[in-house]
Amino acid sequence: MRKFRYIECKNCGILNDSRFNLCTDCGYAIKQDRAPRPPAHSIELNWRDLQIGDEVYIICSDVWVSTAGIPIYMGDSGKFKIIRLTQEGVVAYSTDIGFAFFNMVWADTIGMCNIRRKQTKVYSIGNKARASR
Ligand SMILES: [Zn+2]
Repeated sequence: MRKFRYIECKNCGILNDSRFNLCTDCGYAIKQDRAPRPPAHSIELNWRDLQIGDEVYIICSDVWVSTAGIPIYMGDSGKFKIIRLTQEGVVAYSTDIGFAFFNMVWADTIGMCNIRRKQTKVYSIGNKARASR
């Protein structure tokens, strides 16, 4: 027998069937995509201190807000090796994702297509980071 599960709308407080993405009453996005999070025991690093060859965990929190109002995280996040440093960000390589450029200076801009950019953050992998300077 199917068990009904409910999610409480954080906006208006009514209970919605957990299969719904939006609140049936107010249209608030009940199901939110989980924001990417850094690994445990990692330390936030200043990207300007990075050096070529460093292995870091990069979190890109760019979010696309669908017409239904549901935020979908679309940035690449994960373990990367720094390949190149530029004035505006880094080129990094990941075995899962391949090469990616992370713009570190352009943030908080609401651009075309409802994409919201947040500051891309760099974390150490584990706690074996170089001492933060
Ligand atoms: Zn609601």
